[in-house]
Amino acid sequence: MIPYPREIQSLGGKMSLPKRFEVICPDEMSCLAAYIQRFNEAYQRLVDAFPASVSSDVRKIKLNLMPRIAASHKDMHMIMIDEGAVTLSAKSENGFRYGLTTLKQLCKIAVNAGRDHLETARIIDYPVYDYRGLHLDVSRHFFGVEVVKNYLDYMDEFKLNHLHWHLSDDQGWRIESTKFPLLHEVGAYRYEADGKLYGGYYSHEEIKQILEYAEGLGIEVIPEIDLPGHTVAMLAAYPSLACFPREFEVETHWGVFDDILCVGKPKTVSFLEELLDELCELFPGRYFHIGGDEAPKTRWQDCPNCKAMLKEHVLPDFEALQGWFTNEIVKILRAKGKEVLAWDEVLDSPVDSSIIAMAWRGDAKDSAKLALKNGNRYILSPNSITYLDWSAGEGEPGRKEISTLENVYGIDPQSYEGAHLCLGIQANLWTEYIPDETRLFRMLHPRAMALAERAWNPRSDYEGFLSRLKALGELR
Ligand SMILES: [Zn+2]
Repeated sequence: MIPYPREIQSLGGKMSLPKRFEVICPDEMSCLAAYIQRFNEAYQRLVDAFPASVSSDVRKIKLNLMPRIAASHKDMHMIMIDEGAVTLSAKSENGFRYGLTTLKQLCKIAVNAGRDHLETARIIDYPVYDYRGLHLDVSRHFFGVEVVKNYLDYMDEFKLNHLHWHLSDDQGWRIESTKFPLLHEVGAYRYEADGKLYGGYYSHEEIKQILEYAEGLGIEVIPEIDLPGHTVAMLAAYPSLACFPREFEVETHWGVFDDILCVGKPKTVSFLEELLDELCELFPGRYFHIGGDEAPKTRWQDCPNCKAMLKEHVLPDFEALQGWFTNEIVKILRAKGKEVLAWDEVLDSPVDSSIIAMAWRGDAKDSAKLALKNGNRYILSPNSITYLDWSAGEGEPGRKEISTLENVYGIDPQSYEGAHLCLGIQANLWTEYIPDETRLFRMLHPRAMALAERAWNPRSDYEGFLSRLKALGELR
C-alpha cells in the first residue's frame, strides 16, 4: 500500500473477495455518498478485469462513526477485516475516505497477485502531516477542467490533500474576472512563435465545478496569484499597473522578467484589493497563495513612485519594499479570514509571521532557518528534491536537472531546522516543458507517490516502497 499505513496487524485468516461490497454509511456521513459510489465503481472495474478472482458473495463494509475515538490525529481510522465483513472506524470524513482508499489498494494488490481473498487484519492509520500537497502550473501551459479533475483523482489515490493551483504568471492569467475582464480577455492569451494564439482560462462556473469536485474528494484547493513578480500577463491587460506603462505582450518565453507590478502607486494595492474581493468569493477555502517569488527590483529602482514609497515608509532598500507590499496584501487577506501562503523569498525582508512560507530554494535548508528565525510556519517543497518538472533520470523527459524517484523519496522533514513549524510537504509541477496531459502524468508518476508516502508515514523504507509500487502495478 502507498502510503504505507502506520500499523498493520495480521489476524491470520482470509476473506474471499466478494462480487461487490455493500458500504453501510451512518446518516451523519451522508456527504460521502458520491465517494462511496466511486469506491464501488472502482471495485467493479477490478472485478470486470479479473472476474475469476471473486466469489459470488456480497460483503459489508460498515462505516463506524466514532467521534470520541482516541485519536492522535483527526483523520485517524481503523480498518478491521475479518472473514465475513469489514468495519471502518473514523471520526472525520477524510478518515473514512482514506480507509476506503486503503481497502481499494488492498483489493488491487490481491488481484494483481492472483489471490482471490484479502488477509484478515487490523490496520490503524493516520498521516504525519496535515498538509500533503501537489502543485499545478496552468499558466505556462493551460489544462482544462477534465485534466484538473484527473489530477485530483490521482491525488485522491494516494491521499494527497492540498492542490496548489498556480493560476497566474507572465505567460497567462487563467481566471475569469468580472471586475477586471481584460485579465482573462487579454491576459489569458499569447501569440506563440509560430503565430498561433495559445491560451485559455477557467470561467467562474468551471472553477466552482473543480472546487466542488475537489471537496467531494476531501482535497483543499489553494489558488495562487503570483505578486508582485511574474505579472507580465496582468500588465498586458492593465499596463497602468507597471512602473513605466507601455504596451505589454503576454510572455511567450520562460524566465524571470523585469516588468513587475509597481507598488509605489497606491492604485496598485487598491486594484488588488478589489481583485482579491472577487477571488476570495470565488475561492472560499482556508488558504490563499500570493506568490512573492522572483521579483527583480530593476524597475522599482528607477521608478519615482516606488522610490517615494520607500522614503515614505522609511525602508532601507527595495527588498524591504517588497516586504511592505507583502504585508499590505496579507492584511487584506487576513481581514477576509484567509491563511496566507507565499514562496520563501518573502522571508528575505521583514514580513508578518503569520505567513506560511513555501520553502523551495535549493534544498530549502536556509529557508527553514529563516522561517524559524521569524517564527513563520512553513511547507517544504525543495527545488532540488520535489520539483517534478525536473527529469526523473537519464533519458527521461523534463528539465536537464535530475530528481530521481529515490531522491524524492529521500526528503526528510525532520532534518530541517524548526521542524515543529513544518506543516507538510509538497511536490511542484511547473509546466514550461509540459505541453499536454500525457507528459503531465509522466512527470508526476510515480514520483508523486514517493512524496505522498513521505508526507504520510515518517518511517523511511525505500526498498519496501519499490516493492509496494510493484505490487500495486505502478512501477514501469
Ligand atoms: Zn514603481
